[in-house]
Amino acid sequence: MVSGFDKTESKSRLGLHWKILIGMAIGATAGILCNVVVRGQGPEAVARLKWFADTFTAPIGNIFLRLIFMVVVPLVFCALTLGVAEIGDVRKLGRLGMRTLGMTLVFSTASVLIGLTLANTLRPGDLISEGSRDLLKQQYAEDASKSIKSASKAKSITDTILDIIPRNPLQEAVGALDGSSPGSGMLGVMFFSLCFGIALTVIPAERASPVLEVLRGIYEAVMVIISVAMKFAPIGVAALVFSISAVLGLQFLVALSGYVFAVLTGLGIHMFVVYSLAVWLIAKRSPIGFFKDIIEVILTAFATSSSNATLPTSLRVVEEKLRLDPKVGRFVLTIGSTANQNGTALYEGMTVLFLAQVFGRDLDLTQQLTVVLLSVLAGIGTAGVPGGSLPLVVLVLQTINVPAEGIGIIMGVDRLLDMSRTTVNVVGDIAIATCVDEPTAGRQITSS
Ligand code: ASP
Repeated sequence: MVSGFDKTESKSRLGLHWKILIGMAIGATAGILCNVVVRGQGPEAVARLKWFADTFTAPIGNIFLRLIFMVVVPLVFCALTLGVAEIGDVRKLGRLGMRTLGMTLVFSTASVLIGLTLANTLRPGDLISEGSRDLLKQQYAEDASKSIKSASKAKSITDTILDIIPRNPLQEAVGALDGSSPGSGMLGVMFFSLCFGIALTVIPAERASPVLEVLRGIYEAVMVIISVAMKFAPIGVAALVFSISAVLGLQFLVALSGYVFAVLTGLGIHMFVVYSLAVWLIAKRSPIGFFKDIIEVILTAFATSSSNATLPTSLRVVEEKLRLDPKVGRFVLTIGSTANQNGTALYEGMTVLFLAQVFGRDLDLTQQLTVVLLSVLAGIGTAGVPGGSLPLVVLVLQTINVPAEGIGIIMGVDRLLDMSRTTVNVVGDIAIATCVDEPTAGRQITSS
């Protein structure tokens, strides 16, 4: 299959990942500087800076994000249907599916255990004074109530599982990116795509192939749109990072530094130890080469805070740089962008324990095991969009009787943690794809 990537290859010598990195650095430096200067000039100046960020820079960043989100639904449908139909052999598909599912569960459980161990040993919640707790809660009361409202739409475990089979895939697709679908959103779209792809392998080839040709055409066209959008990434990323850092500054980081440090340490251990071991022991690749090859994906995930928005870049990079089988890449990465979120699972477990500590509640073993189980499930059910996991954190808090409004305490630093956990989520998908890829003769398997 011809890929859509080659048509829009950049002619400039500076790689896209460098440009994104420069954009990020400019955005962060300018944002923090403006925040520091403006804070010294009183609340009116702070409000003016927020207005500037909301009116000018955030929309510029959102143009970039929307251009990508615009094509995520057709991309997921085409990539997954093609991935399944091209693998063809149902037994091979079953093996790939089982290995992917197995690794998802192992990675997610490992990540939550790393998170809980750190939260129990570092006890970041004990560092928060009652005064800062109330101040932080006040500041983000409105955002917290939004998450609590979405969590209140929660369903029973039976309905959650049943909802994976969509009643109407189109309706699921419509609300897949903003959480307004009646069922499981993107998971429902994926379920339909899997069934459709399998069905195409069963009908006579002469009838399946025109459908596949159309899907290939759509896939390539979508990739072209994304390549054009990605050219805009350095500016979009600078604008997004500026808007976040200008409004937040560094003051929240100081109050919550223990918590932020603990979560980032957990994410770092999972990303650089667990994934490196898997890539080294199972895929027999050099972890350093692996991380070097996927640097563009890492930066895109960090800048967009969205696994779904990073999917096109991941699909391209595993094919071009890691040289994985595109069929495997399309299957594993597309499903993984929603269903394999190790960073999110780790973050959810740690956040729940942190907030329990802040409220002076020590969780017993059964409650901690409940947190592990719910965090692993939440990692599978979280939408791959910015802040997708917040309603699920509320759910876990409610299950173990920790005040859900406590989520307001961490809202101030959530974006930074979202950027970081999304990076771990996406790298996890690529690590699994690399491990389950069975190299075929003639395909280069070492890192480039
Ligand atoms: N932003 C995350 C992602 O897209 C989801 C979350 O943890 O909020 O992977």
